[in-house]
Amino acid sequence: MRGEQELRSILGRIDGRGYAAYRELTGSFRLGALELAVDHVQPDPFAPPSRVRLRVPMDDARFDPALWRERVRRIALEDLLARALAREIARRPRGAGEGKSGVVSVDSGGQEVLERSAVAVRPDSVEARLSLGLPAEGRRVLGWEAGKLLCDELRHLARIALRASALAPGEAEAFVACVEDQEHLREQLRGAGLVAFLADGAVLPRESGASERPLAAGALALCAPDALRVELPLADRRGAPRTARGLGIPEGVTLVVGGGYHGKSTLLRALERGVYPHVPGDGREGVVTRGDAVTIRAEDGRRVERVDLSGFIGRLPGGRVAGAFTSDDASGSTSQAANIVEALEAGSRLLLLDEDTSATNFMVRDARMQALVPKEREPITPFVDRVRELAGLGVSTVLVMGGSGDYLDAADTVIEMRAFQPHAVTEAAREVARAHPTGRTTERAAPFALPEPRVPLPGSLDASKGRRELRIAVHGRELLEFGVEKIELRGVPQLVDASQTRAVGQLLEVARRRFIDGKAGLAEILDALDALLDERGLDALGPESERGPRHPGDFARPRRYEIAAALNRLRSVRVASGPSRERIS
Ligand code: ADP
Ligand code: MG
Repeated sequence: MRGEQELRSILGRIDGRGYAAYRELTGSFRLGALELAVDHVQPDPFAPPSRVRLRVPMDDARFDPALWRERVRRIALEDLLARALAREIARRPRGAGEGKSGVVSVDSGGQEVLERSAVAVRPDSVEARLSLGLPAEGRRVLGWEAGKLLCDELRHLARIALRASALAPGEAEAFVACVEDQEHLREQLRGAGLVAFLADGAVLPRESGASERPLAAGALALCAPDALRVELPLADRRGAPRTARGLGIPEGVTLVVGGGYHGKSTLLRALERGVYPHVPGDGREGVVTRGDAVTIRAEDGRRVERVDLSGFIGRLPGGRVAGAFTSDDASGSTSQAANIVEALEAGSRLLLLDEDTSATNFMVRDARMQALVPKEREPITPFVDRVRELAGLGVSTVLVMGGSGDYLDAADTVIEMRAFQPHAVTEAAREVARAHPTGRTTERAAPFALPEPRVPLPGSLDASKGRRELRIAVHGRELLEFGVEKIELRGVPQLVDASQTRAVGQLLEVARRRFIDGKAGLAEILDALDALLDERGLDALGPESERGPRHPGDFARPRRYEIAAALNRLRSVRVASGPSRERIS
């Protein structure tokens, strides 16, 4: 391996030459104890930045094995180190030069702690994956600046962010323990018959509609009502056993009611994000939701491919049957029904719905409307007539519904949000349901059945564009370009990080190449992708290379439900459904 002398002498030699001369840097250098791998050199100062990896031997980084031996703890430590690096990078002045000259970045996360490719902690080393702009004046190499960046600054960054002694005393322990506690709580939910837990003292409201940071001023901390308060053990560590007390949301049908502006949607959004652990200080680090929770919204305009909506939608005008419903422009109600059936197909058994983002005609049809528009002319079986059946099939629902009392009969648990605090009002709701019958008739014709597997067809996914064999790009969290197709992910709120979206794009391509064979059902394909990520981590999504390991790209791990959501929204995808199913061409 080349050393620092060689790196500096290359830079001296190419100083002032055309930018392409930087390509000589490709490969590895030893800088003292540190190893710098230059994996990709940008073609010009305005192109996407160069990719490097910085490797610190564990002998030098010295993180206690207790912080990384177990998977959950390692992911938390990696996440913390990416944040520490980003913090130090933000502090440094940017070097001279044009375009992206001197810019250094690491893909660190937001409020959620996710498995990501930015930092890899291994028994023998800590490796950070960085992007940086090699310095240029005009389109010429700035050799001296590059030397300062690659040798001095990166070494400095590694020293102040990637070593145990660089962090504040106890910082890593506290961060890792906080994440471990959250995962420990999540693991206990099923055994305790719960779908979610919100610790007393949790702060749910956010700074603004555009920020996931906690509301700083005037936030009321959560206090569980006695009737729903549970106590769960926290992760086992040295010392006395510890527990967390708070609101336990039971399996079955849970209704969240309350006046407008009393905190209902804020509660549901905390549950939606509670499928991921949060950083200490977020306010939601005591909020954990079962990992299979999927937020269901109306999402008109989306593509739907042969989804069996017959549980919710009957014969449509024009004689279409909803047994294998296909649309390039689904309506509010059909898109919401499709979102439910697809979530179930991907394996979710916990649905989160908010009246604010639901199609009214999908949620309820009251007695008066039943009288005016007879069932023969209304194809929709509203959710209220299916939610108990779903519970019978093991599918729990948490539903925010302040506007219709028709759900009171269907609920196992009713929580009223009153001035931002939850109150248990199940008994009162039962009384009301008895005293004020809805007068409506139940509308389901046939029993609801969990969906049959659909089989994605080879040839219906294509990531190529023009002469490029593979073109996958993301624009923020919500838009994924896959070949010539644009996948809209606005309706998929549990995709929380653009690096997850990036990973989803690569995973669709892996699925296309390896698992979509015209025989495997979608759930099996998701199993295979999960197994691949469990086994090889996100690095498996990086470019293949004979030269050994490389900067894999900036990825964070998505859940199977969001991978499925992207596939289901890819407009080119075609599926075959089970032979017993009705077919529409
Ligand atoms: P609802 O869905 O019941 O109409 P929201 O959940 O949208 O109400 O909340 C209304 C407003 O109150 C939001 O701006 C939200 O940030 C704020 N809010 C919610 N919970 C709290 C809380 N615990 N403390 C302070 N403000 C809160
Ligand atoms: Mg609301």
